[in-house]
Amino acid sequence: MSLSVDIRKRYKNFSLEVAFETAPGETLALLGASGSGKSVTLKCVAGLLTPDEGRIVLNGRVLFDSAARVNLRPQARHVGYLFQSYALFPNMTVRQNIEIARRAETGGGSGAGGQTTDDLLRRMELTEQADQYPVQLSGGQQQRAALARIYAYEPELLLLDEPFSALDTYLRENMQAELLREMRGYAGDVVLVTHSRDEAYKIARRLVILDAGRPVACGETAALFHDPVTAQAARITGCKNISPIRKTGDTTFFAEAWGLELDAGREVLPAHTYAGIRAHDFGLKGSMNSFPIVVEDVMEGPFDKNVLFRAGDGGGGRLWWITDKGADVREAAALSIAPEHILLLQEK
Ligand code: ADP
Ligand code: MG
Repeated sequence: MSLSVDIRKRYKNFSLEVAFETAPGETLALLGASGSGKSVTLKCVAGLLTPDEGRIVLNGRVLFDSAARVNLRPQARHVGYLFQSYALFPNMTVRQNIEIARRAETGGGSGAGGQTTDDLLRRMELTEQADQYPVQLSGGQQQRAALARIYAYEPELLLLDEPFSALDTYLRENMQAELLREMRGYAGDVVLVTHSRDEAYKIARRLVILDAGRPVACGETAALFHDPVTAQAARITGCKNISPIRKTGDTTFFAEAWGLELDAGREVLPAHTYAGIRAHDFGLKGSMNSFPIVVEDVMEGPFDKNVLFRAGDGGGGRLWWITDKGADVREAAALSIAPEHILLLQEK
């Protein structure tokens, strides 16, 4: 059971060329900036857009194959697509929203894997809301109703297109937790697209990073955040400090943008043309890679401080340091970076 996608689609000012696969039953995230091609990719899988060429196979069923001229219509793909807006019918109750999806799936038969509408309502904890209209529901209830409707189609694959991006922080974190809980009872594969590295990290064990319509990295989420390999992937996973480097010794390099020589504690290879340092990884004390700093700006968040500083005598470019709220930043005359926290990066 898995999804395999290998497609190309060209617009006037944008071209998409992606290939990825899911492992059985897994949740995969596509992480990329706005405009990187995430929604176009999902719509091609759902059958709402047609790729120029390529192949999409779900659990051994060919959904799309340009060479073989196969292009199943969306209803025949058994793919559930959760839009940001949930797309419930506003003039129908929760029960009616689910029943119309069941009818579409079964042509009037029993359908939904033997699950009745009442089963789906119970599973989504919506029994009491069955006869209410979407506007009467909370955000979380709307999300569950939209999922119940999608489950009524018996999808073999669930596509989630930035399902939380319109919500404020409090609601978003609750709904993320709720969705994780709901998905534990779902046996099919899930593809989540998001521009939020936090969301990708929380929800998906594996990750494909998209940049300008191309996958630039792919792997286990935690491993990719730990070692993003390329400068592009480091930036998309949220690394705020990236500099071109010049090798100065076996394990040392000079970071051109920062005016700083650092020891990576491991061999700097010819392919390593950039280094990255995550803003959280600087320390106040440390025996290696200590350097004086000049603090330029401090922005206080509710729980942390975002500090812009220059290294050395202040001649180099600026770096970001994020530290806890209690830290006395103005007193911080020196910082250090542990070698294992230095990301050695390739260009592509
Ligand atoms: P996102 O990663 O934010 O979901 P999209 O997949 O929606 O990005 O879009 C990626 C790019 O594809 C857009 O920046 C746009 O240039 C292009 N695009 C999408 N749909 C169309 C269209 N119908 N016509 C022309 N260009 C399009
Ligand atoms: Mg989008």
